[in-house]
Amino acid sequence: MGINNIWVFAQEANGAPSSNTLELLTKAGALGGSVSAFVVGDASNIAAALGQYGATKVYSTGDLGGQLPGVAGAAAMKAVIDGGDSPDLIMFPQNYEGRDVMSRLSVKLDRTVLTNNVDVAVDGDAVKVTTPVFGGETMVTTTFTGSGPFLAAFRPKSFEAVAGAGGAGEVVSAPVPDLGAAGGAKVTAVHVEESTGPKLDEAAIVVSGGRGLGEKDKFAMVDDLAKILKGAAGASRAIVDAGWVPYSMQVGQTGKVVKPNVYIACGISGATQHMVGMKGSKHIIAINKDQEAPIFGVADLGIVGDVHKVMPKLIEALRGR
Ligand SMILES: Cc1cc2nc3c(=O)[nH]c(=O)nc-3n(C[C@H](O)[C@H](O)[C@H](O)COP(=O)(O)OP(=O)(O)OC[C@H]3O[C@@H](n4cnc5c(N)ncnc54)[C@H](O)[C@@H]3O)c2cc1C
Repeated sequence: MGINNIWVFAQEANGAPSSNTLELLTKAGALGGSVSAFVVGDASNIAAALGQYGATKVYSTGDLGGQLPGVAGAAAMKAVIDGGDSPDLIMFPQNYEGRDVMSRLSVKLDRTVLTNNVDVAVDGDAVKVTTPVFGGETMVTTTFTGSGPFLAAFRPKSFEAVAGAGGAGEVVSAPVPDLGAAGGAKVTAVHVEESTGPKLDEAAIVVSGGRGLGEKDKFAMVDDLAKILKGAAGASRAIVDAGWVPYSMQVGQTGKVVKPNVYIACGISGATQHMVGMKGSKHIIAINKDQEAPIFGVADLGIVGDVHKVMPKLIEALRGR
């Protein structure tokens, strides 16, 4: 028995597998058994890379022709499972598309889902997942009961992506069956948020600002510092809620998880909900005028001072290099 067959819900980003996908494939490979990637869309651009990260089989629905990925993906997965090629475990990324497909598949298969996980282990026939609760203060381990396929979603950056020596995965067609009325909704346009510089969740350096900046215009200091360091700018929820910066910049429990080499928190208190999104960073630098601020509890380098004095000096010094 044991877990013999694992699927990973695979996504493309700019012509390559997304970082989430590669992280999940690497972890799936470490659990033992065979690993397949399931691409809801055309897999031709990414099948080779998926193979390199351990997928021996790449299911692909082919181009969706404007169908919604959630509806089409769940139906295509169900069709393969009904055809007898059923996995023991399906690993999804904890993002919009992953959750959409997973929840619809959960209904179709009448199987429960476990979401927001940061780890998974296999013990004989049992699959156990680990989930942070209370803002990451406590870890809960849950074991799936009943029969598979077990459906689990994982937070980004839970695992390290490591390329193996695998060849290109064998591409297997997994066409979308007739969706009936559910297939009526169509994607008519896709808007990509404009951004310059590295992506927040992939940048090697992240500079984040919080309410301690005092006012919206002062976020320019965070942008400047991020630009000089060739990093990305992030934010606490307090200033996202205040409308200073868009939600796409939010770091934390209900925002993005980042693990850069260097994270610089400027005027951020270090609430657990913020820290759960950045405490895995290699080096943390905090600038805060309150020496009791919780962010100093995780900082490798703490600067007790006013952001309006420290940041301009830092920017000036870096510009002068
Ligand atoms: C369900 C839930 C989910 C949440 N999800 C998130 C999330 O994803 N991300 C997130 O960030 N938060 C999240 N929060 C909110 C979180 O609890 C905090 O409210 C938020 O992180 C606080 O943001 P902040 O640190 O910018 O503001 P504050 O807590 O107000 O801290 C401001 C800090 O700036 C310092 N400061 C003030 N003036 C200066 C100055 N001139 N120079 C230097 N320092 C100064 C202060 O000492 C203080 O430490 C969530 C909350 C809940 C309930």
